[in-house]
Amino acid sequence: MIPYGKQDISKEDIDAVVEVLKSPYLTQGPRVPVFEDAITAYCGSKYGVAVNSATSALHLACIALNLIPGDILWTSPISFVASANCALYCGAKVDFVDIDLSTHNMCPRALKEKLEAAAKKGRLPKIVIPVHMGGDSCCMREIYELGQEYGFKIIEDASHAIGGSYLGKRIGNCAYSDITIFSFHPVKIITTAEGGMAVTNNDDIYEKLILHRSHGITRDPNDMTCEPDGGWYYQQIELGYNYRMTELQAALGISQLGRIDHFIERRHEIKAIYDDLLQQLPLDLPTTRTNSSSALHLYVIKLKNKTMALRKELFDHMRSRGVGVNVHYIPIHLQPYYQKLGFSKGDFPQAENYYKSAISIPMHPNLEMAELQYIAGEIEGFFSQK
Ligand SMILES: *Cc1c(COP(=O)(O)O)cnc(C)c1O
Repeated sequence: MIPYGKQDISKEDIDAVVEVLKSPYLTQGPRVPVFEDAITAYCGSKYGVAVNSATSALHLACIALNLIPGDILWTSPISFVASANCALYCGAKVDFVDIDLSTHNMCPRALKEKLEAAAKKGRLPKIVIPVHMGGDSCCMREIYELGQEYGFKIIEDASHAIGGSYLGKRIGNCAYSDITIFSFHPVKIITTAEGGMAVTNNDDIYEKLILHRSHGITRDPNDMTCEPDGGWYYQQIELGYNYRMTELQAALGISQLGRIDHFIERRHEIKAIYDDLLQQLPLDLPTTRTNSSSALHLYVIKLKNKTMALRKELFDHMRSRGVGVNVHYIPIHLQPYYQKLGFSKGDFPQAENYYKSAISIPMHPNLEMAELQYIAGEIEGFFSQK
């Protein structure tokens, strides 16, 4: 099966991890801060906090922005469930903003209308999480301006998007957000096996992220309620977690980051090949935008004939031919857990419309020309039998 996404592991990556195994520190050593600095240097933000997953990064980000019971968080229904679950971890409520069908991202116009209605009811969100679907930036300037007007904080879920850019700057510079989070799961742009990072330009947010990453424990006498008893002393001043990244993961991340530009370039080459091979078929292909450059985590094709039955047929056909197509994503509000919270079919029509027609075809740096031709040929073969 040709997978839809796959890591690229080099000999240097392996050597970097093995070197850690022979070193004194498997965790809480020197490599995690080096990885954090390398990521912030790459994406142009001030602080980075490496953690064991993007899910943990989202949770910490919500804590750092003081999301508490009674608060509301809004995100996109077309995302992985983690983008919404982070609010529930904090005891807050979740709601969704419908997508723009041309970008698959949160629609700024829908956001504005929902904010106007929410303001009247006194039910404004404390946090909005735009998700850069497939690696393509949301309209962050518009969302940021609405944040200024309506007083919400912004966490960019850039799990797909490290290496992408928006208005000429790398995603993760936090020019239009309080915090940006990345995922380093193996299917994403670079990997640490499991892993994630929260980046920010704000000193207070950074302190809170660090504190809650490691049990709410501080070793800084300035944060303590009394003089330290001695050199061993620490205090727990908040209820935190163990969300730390290991040294093995950080070493892999540092090594991977060295090849990120190559990975992104290769993804763009693959997109161009697919665009060319698939252009005659009854499909909507990914659009290219002028003010941003996607990291191209995904290559999502949409059937012009939007029926669940035809999409299922294409999915089954491709899988039977050894092509690991996938669907990103089942709208979060249609998950049974979210339906129990009160959401139902019809709540976010554009997201549901998108879901009916979307299929992700394989996209990762090591796809070869013969594989791309095979994949495109199988899609073409499917439609020629119709
Ligand atoms: C992968 C992903 C996550 C979760 O990432 P993990 O590192 O696996 O926790 C969150 N949001 C989106 C949009 C993702 O694709």
